[in-house]
Amino acid sequence: MMLKIKRVPTVVSNYQKDGAADTSRPVGGCGRNCLKACCLPDAKLPLYAFKKVVNEKDLALQECGEPPVAFLDSLLLGEWEDRMQKGLFRYDVTACETKVIPGEYGFVAQLNEGRHLKKRPTEFRVDKVLQPFDESKFNFTKVGQEEVLFQFEASDDGQIQFFPNAPVDVDNSPSFVAINVSPIEYGHVLLIPRIFECLPQRIDRESFLLALHMAVEADNPYFRLGYNSLGAFATINHLHFQAYYLALPFPIEKAPTKKIANLNGGVKISELLKYPVRGLVFEGGDTVEDLSNVVSDACICLQNNNIPFNVLISDCGKQVFLLPQCYAEKQALGEVDAELLDTQVNPAVWEISGHMVLKRKKDYDEASEGNAWRLLAEVSLSEERFQEVNDLIFEAIDCGDNVQRDKEEDAVSSSAHSTVVVVAGSQECVVLQ
Ligand SMILES: [Zn+2]
Repeated sequence: MMLKIKRVPTVVSNYQKDGAADTSRPVGGCGRNCLKACCLPDAKLPLYAFKKVVNEKDLALQECGEPPVAFLDSLLLGEWEDRMQKGLFRYDVTACETKVIPGEYGFVAQLNEGRHLKKRPTEFRVDKVLQPFDESKFNFTKVGQEEVLFQFEASDDGQIQFFPNAPVDVDNSPSFVAINVSPIEYGHVLLIPRIFECLPQRIDRESFLLALHMAVEADNPYFRLGYNSLGAFATINHLHFQAYYLALPFPIEKAPTKKIANLNGGVKISELLKYPVRGLVFEGGDTVEDLSNVVSDACICLQNNNIPFNVLISDCGKQVFLLPQCYAEKQALGEVDAELLDTQVNPAVWEISGHMVLKRKKDYDEASEGNAWRLLAEVSLSEERFQEVNDLIFEAIDCGDNVQRDKEEDAVSSSAHSTVVVVAGSQECVVLQ
């Protein structure tokens, strides 16, 4: 069955628009300061190399000795603010109205009318999670150097390293952190693993580990990374993760969970309870890589079975939510309520996590926990389908008999987090800046 629907992708780079070449800057190469062979030899970008093996012992050792730069506060947010000063964003996200919706979960609503202006309709195939990279479509090799904040890689000598002005070594497959020019929050960036390899939007073990390491380096529970597969509202088929800083707990992080499996290597898998979208929670692991491999293998299983999904990396990389979804499929089959469609909200990873980015003033004014719940309930697989998908996942990660699946009902934990902060007067509207 071929399902095609008209989609309106958000512009994530200033070079995504047709004919956006800015020739006003006379520099070397083609004059655009681009990421192609004409301009790259002159490129100098900060390079942050993280310490690769991270377990409890290493973390303890890391305490001694100052890191060369504060990853989140100085490097990432510092460079991001620099790009804001330079006017590279399409609108001022810090001026967008935001409020916590009254209720048990504290859904966060943002009114973002600017994000979807200047629409460029594109045919986007929603029925295939894996599609080959298409050189002719927008991809991140087409952004300008000024949109790139820094290069991010594993250190080769076991120490954190920082170089403020490093050349770009294309042969060494650099990964970039770049701004999203249509940010939905403060510090909204894209992590583009091995950018010049032009990988399609598809999870692999190495790239997921890189994303998890970024959360570990940021070392702040309010800095999360997210991933949308094709068919689950990714708009660009070039491998990327998103990330931003929002100093509020996400509703999904507050939902109770029930442990369903323990794996060798210390990874624990739970099911989300009392949340509108059914999903799995992965935690623990003796090393970052243990956790990363289990989640990656689960994602790869979903990809191979053509099941769209979203991933949220929380709690400094210690907790990962995996949410298979079926909204686009229902949408294409005409099974989504017209009232929900009218809001034009695309339930991607942030919305599913409880940060609702709304395009219409009316929806913002009328935002309620009930409305958020109704939308997200449409995203979720049915209980029956969810259990089928879980069986596929457990089959895929159970190489040998290292999975202990827990069928008992007594493993309910009330909340996953100790870092959840109670929002002062959560009945109030919080307006950022
Ligand atoms: Zn150039």
